[in-house]
Amino acid sequence: MTLQPQVEEAIDEAARIVLSSRHVVALVGAGLSVESGIPPFRGPGGLWTKYGEPDMLGYQRFLQDPLGWWQERLSPAAGYRELAEALARARPNPGHYALKEMEDLGFLHHVITQNIDNLHAEAGSRNVTEIHGNRTKLRCIECCARWHSDQFPIDELPPRCPHCGGLVKSDTVMFGEPIPRDALEECIRQAAMCDCMLLIGTSGVVYPAAGFPVDVKMQGGRLIEFNPDETALTELCDVVVRAPSGVALPRLVQRLKELSAR
Ligand SMILES: [Zn+2]
Repeated sequence: MTLQPQVEEAIDEAARIVLSSRHVVALVGAGLSVESGIPPFRGPGGLWTKYGEPDMLGYQRFLQDPLGWWQERLSPAAGYRELAEALARARPNPGHYALKEMEDLGFLHHVITQNIDNLHAEAGSRNVTEIHGNRTKLRCIECCARWHSDQFPIDELPPRCPHCGGLVKSDTVMFGEPIPRDALEECIRQAAMCDCMLLIGTSGVVYPAAGFPVDVKMQGGRLIEFNPDETALTELCDVVVRAPSGVALPRLVQRLKELSAR
C-alpha cells in the first residue's frame, strides 16, 4: 500500500522522535481493535448504538447481586453475545505485531491499552497494562489477583478468591467500577517516566486514560497520534499520522530500522 507523501513525512518525523526518546509508551484505544474486526461501542454500527447504552450502574448492581450477575454471565443477552463472538474470532492485526516488534527492538517500553481483547498478548507484547481489564481473565475485586477464566474452577456462585475471600468477577472493568489499583498505579508510573507517547486509535475522551497524554505533555514529553480521524487529543500532538494503525505502525517500524542502521 502506498502512503500519501504527508503521511510518509509524518511517519519519518515520528521515527526520529522515537529514536531520540528515552522511554516510549503506547496508549492504545478501540481503533486498533476495530481493525481486527471487533465492533466499536460508539458510533454507527457500534454495539451501544444497536443494543442501547450499558447499565451505568453495572458495578453497583454486581456488588448488590453478584449471584445474579454470574447467572446472567452464564446465559448472556444478545448484545453481549455479539461482542463475545466477535472477540473470540478476532486476531491481532499488523498494528499489534508492529508494537510487539518495536518492543523487541527496544524502541517501545510499555503498552497501556484500553482494549480488553487480549490481542497484545496474542501478538507477543510483554509489557502491557490493560487498564480496562482482559476478557479472558477473572479478577478478585479485593486483592486484584487474576486468573485465566478456564483455569479458575467455579464450584460455587458467586465464586470467591482463594487468597482473601473477596468476590471474583470478570477482569473487564464495568461501568462505575474503579480502575484496578495495580493497573492504575502502573499507568501513572509509566506516564511519569514517559518522554514520548504514541496515541494509537484512541479517541481521547475516556478517563483516566485520556489524562496520561496531558501529563506527558506537561512534563515536556512529545505526543504522536496514529489515527485516521481527528480526536480530542490531536491539537496537543507534536506529530499526527492520519492513517490506519495496521498500515502506519509497520511502516514506522521499517523507518526505525532504516534510521537506526545508519
Ligand atoms: Zn483476593
